[in-house]
Amino acid sequence: MSSSSHPTVIVIGAGIIGLACALKLQAKLAEREGTRYVHVLLVAREWPGSIPGAPSTHSADYASMWAGAHVRPIPATTPQLQREAAWLKQAAAEFSRQVEAEPWCGVTRTGGVEFLEAPDRGYRSQDAGGFERESGLRGFRKLSPSELPEGVSLGFEYETFCVNSPLYCEHLLRKFLLQGGKTVQRELKSEWEAFTLRENVLFIVNASGTGFGDPKCFPTRGQTVVTNLSDIIKTVTRQNKDGSWSFLIPRFFNGGTIVGGTKEPGDWRTEPDAATRNRLLAAGLTIEPYAHDTPRSNAESPENVKVVSDVVGRRPTREGGMRLEVEERALVQHNRESTTGGVIHAYGAGGRGYEISWGVASEVVAPAGPLLEPNNLEAKL
Ligand SMILES: Cc1cc2nc3c(=O)[nH]c(=O)nc-3n(C[C@H](O)[C@H](O)[C@H](O)COP(=O)(O)OP(=O)(O)OC[C@H]3O[C@@H](n4cnc5c(N)ncnc54)[C@H](O)[C@@H]3O)c2cc1C
Repeated sequence: MSSSSHPTVIVIGAGIIGLACALKLQAKLAEREGTRYVHVLLVAREWPGSIPGAPSTHSADYASMWAGAHVRPIPATTPQLQREAAWLKQAAAEFSRQVEAEPWCGVTRTGGVEFLEAPDRGYRSQDAGGFERESGLRGFRKLSPSELPEGVSLGFEYETFCVNSPLYCEHLLRKFLLQGGKTVQRELKSEWEAFTLRENVLFIVNASGTGFGDPKCFPTRGQTVVTNLSDIIKTVTRQNKDGSWSFLIPRFFNGGTIVGGTKEPGDWRTEPDAATRNRLLAAGLTIEPYAHDTPRSNAESPENVKVVSDVVGRRPTREGGMRLEVEERALVQHNRESTTGGVIHAYGAGGRGYEISWGVASEVVAPAGPLLEPNNLEAKL
């Protein structure tokens, strides 16, 4: 069988969602008898390999290279947040497995601290039992008023994970390749175009971040600063009552610390803004004392903090949350009988792609299961 005629599953996108889906598909195929000859092909315009501060060719649209990234559960007070909470719980379980089994992968178990100036009812009613049930994360503790910075009315801590995002994506890609995964670098005009990449395509997973012209998708601009702060061991987040955010995310494995950050829906600017950088750094240093095992009495002085690089990324956001559904269409076939093709859409993760990744990938693989049954595969041979 030539490489192009192997039955092939194609995953569009080499961001965190595409990589997690591709690895889950490989695992599914490995479980089944008689599916060794099925290829998984990853096709993407941009690929992992970004080191902040080094010359980089990644665009702001390749969100996975620019993410902080921490796991920060949000109280599941709406149907969308409930769906995301279930995915986050699965991702947290997978991170927990990975930090033990593959400690070099780029994920680190850390403490998480959150401060809120004006918490809504969901945050106010959160307790240890509910938090652990919803997220799978342990160690939830409400902070006493004496442990809170000025202006903060609610604070809590818990055990969580931080991800060195470019390193982690590279790790997943290497694993995919070692397990026999195939790759093609290509910019596609449509998810349906991917059916032309191989003769025998079983189905496509569309993990392209923003989809192809979906009117519900829009970017949420995020500006952050990669700094040389290196002794921080907790991720700290402060939500201010004016809607702005401050966060520190340690990037273990020599990645410094991310000081952030903005969340600007519909803002297409790709250049960092100097005034924003200064504001982020000043606000970030006020929460730095809480990023240590024992809170410090003095904040790190600005002179000791070096900027490694400014970051601007676009979170691939979608009204109503991720599109996770199967779409079937008639395909134009040349010299063959007419047939239909299926696309499993998995895009629009917004600001939460890492923390929901493995839950999303499990949900993508569920409808893929029947398509990979030996009977269905035989029909494709
Ligand atoms: C500043 C910032 C901070 C963040 N912090 C966090 C955090 O703390 N925790 C968290 O969980 N998330 C965080 N995020 C969000 C996270 O980065 C995204 O949700 C996630 O990266 C989305 O992954 P994705 O795979 O869907 O898309 P992307 O990473 O954008 O990848 C899309 C892939 O599809 C490919 N592609 C797109 N169009 C085409 C085409 N036409 N043809 C071929 N290939 C195509 C791209 O080349 C790329 O390979 C943050 C994001 C930003 C910007």
